[in-house]
Amino acid sequence: MVTVIEEDGTISKAIVAKEAAKDVADVFVKNKVQVSWADARPGPLMTALDWLLPILTLLAIGIIGWRVFASMGGHGSFEIADSAGGQTVTFKDVAGVDEARAELSETIDFLRDPLKFGRLGGRAPRGILLSGPPGTGKTLLARAAANEARVPFLSVSGSSFQEKFAGLGAARVRRLFARARKLAPCVIFIDEIDALGRRRGRGNDSASADQDQTLNQLLVEMDGFEQLGAVVVIASTNRPDILDQALTRPGRFDREITVNLADLRGREQILKVHARNLKLEDGLDLSWIARGTPGFSGADLANLLNEAAIFATRDNSPAVGRPHVEYARDKILMGVERLGFMMDEDERYATAVHEAGHVAVGLAVKNGDPIHKVSILPRGRALGVTQALPERDRLMKKREYLEDQVAMLLGGRAAEMLLLDTMTAGASNDIERAVEIARKMVAEFGMSPLGPIHLGRPEDPHSQTLLDRIEKATNDIIDAQLKRACDVVDSKREEIARLVAGLMDHDTLDSDEIQISFGLKAEQAAA
Ligand code: ADP
Ligand code: ZN
Repeated sequence: MVTVIEEDGTISKAIVAKEAAKDVADVFVKNKVQVSWADARPGPLMTALDWLLPILTLLAIGIIGWRVFASMGGHGSFEIADSAGGQTVTFKDVAGVDEARAELSETIDFLRDPLKFGRLGGRAPRGILLSGPPGTGKTLLARAAANEARVPFLSVSGSSFQEKFAGLGAARVRRLFARARKLAPCVIFIDEIDALGRRRGRGNDSASADQDQTLNQLLVEMDGFEQLGAVVVIASTNRPDILDQALTRPGRFDREITVNLADLRGREQILKVHARNLKLEDGLDLSWIARGTPGFSGADLANLLNEAAIFATRDNSPAVGRPHVEYARDKILMGVERLGFMMDEDERYATAVHEAGHVAVGLAVKNGDPIHKVSILPRGRALGVTQALPERDRLMKKREYLEDQVAMLLGGRAAEMLLLDTMTAGASNDIERAVEIARKMVAEFGMSPLGPIHLGRPEDPHSQTLLDRIEKATNDIIDAQLKRACDVVDSKREEIARLVAGLMDHDTLDSDEIQISFGLKAEQAAA
């Protein structure tokens, strides 16, 4: 891995095959570029030196030399760095996003042969906004598009334009496009464009004035698209709603492609991509994993398989099996077990009662997700966890489902109040999430007596009366669901006591054991 730090602070990385390293150095030296080598995994000494030495200064001439070298080919592999371990990312590596991929095909044709495309009278989209949740493969798609067209990929993060000194952000935008013009045809990728593309004129402090200036510069550069030659700008965001509207005008980012979380089939395909180099046990089929991971992004799924593989290795298993995947999923959903962190018996008991409250309500409500596991082993920042997993992807969230979610979240607090006669701060995250759902029900989904209102953007003006009413309607939902949760806890005292005893003995109970405590399943059926 070669890291290049340009004078303006731009960092680029390239993976260089070992055999090619010397050739690369020669090109740099020939172009009078200062070169120094660093180990991929720096030791303690190297990290200290990192602070002291500007490792590598590369001028424009260096880039050109590098480009020439790259296009000469032959001398070992050379490519823009990517996370896939140095392999070129193609559409084969991006699964479950067929529509987005199809939408990019014109752009790829354009990049492959801009002149021919123009002759045929076509106008390919040159500014593309990829919007969607994090980890859904937006960066991957952009990278694959560039590789598929065999053009350079210039990647920057929107937040890297937030500079300490006024005017520097705008200058960086100018330099980025100047460089792209030289490299054309090429793709500029701006990750998290919302960091630089927020609506202008929000504040009158100097930071937001500078940000406005940076954004203006981007708009100016994109208006010069025709002169820009064959440059395509792809930007990604998970907050398209906060972008300045000038960005999405015709001639700028005038094509928006939404990249959503994959559905069941998409998840299976993504898993297939990431399982290519793993050895899986015969009994482990990917569709089973896909079924148990609704809501997981591509990044989550990649992480899941990676963790499972690490666990299998630690386990000395010849292949990755179900238990490894289960373990990895628990780790991702609930955080890492904090081993060595000891709770005293009182704390364990209070945690067990709190979690049992969640379970009791979760089992009692009709529209909840099945309870998968409950544990009083501290994980991450939580003291205990109750895990409910949807059986299928929920595309439509009905009011009853949301109410049940709120009730279940408040089940922990209900149990504290009724069975421990106290309240703990451990419920704070539950309450936060419950209020968030209730608020959405009122202010976005129109599911309250206030009727179908939509609060819209936070920065839009809202009357205080409306906000007060929303607050009141939200509280009403919380109150009603807390009462419901308390009723359930009150009627299930015996079952909860059994579950608490089980948790005190075993720390973690699975769904069979939970069902037995609640008399929903006979003891021997579990064995
Ligand atoms: P985003 O840019 O949307 O935040 P990334 O493209 O950076 O997401 O994805 C991060 C990682 O997650 C990828 O490097 C890849 O390993 C995995 N990943 C995400 N989406 C997909 C997908 N659709 N197919 C295969 N892998 C994916
Ligand atoms: Zn809780």
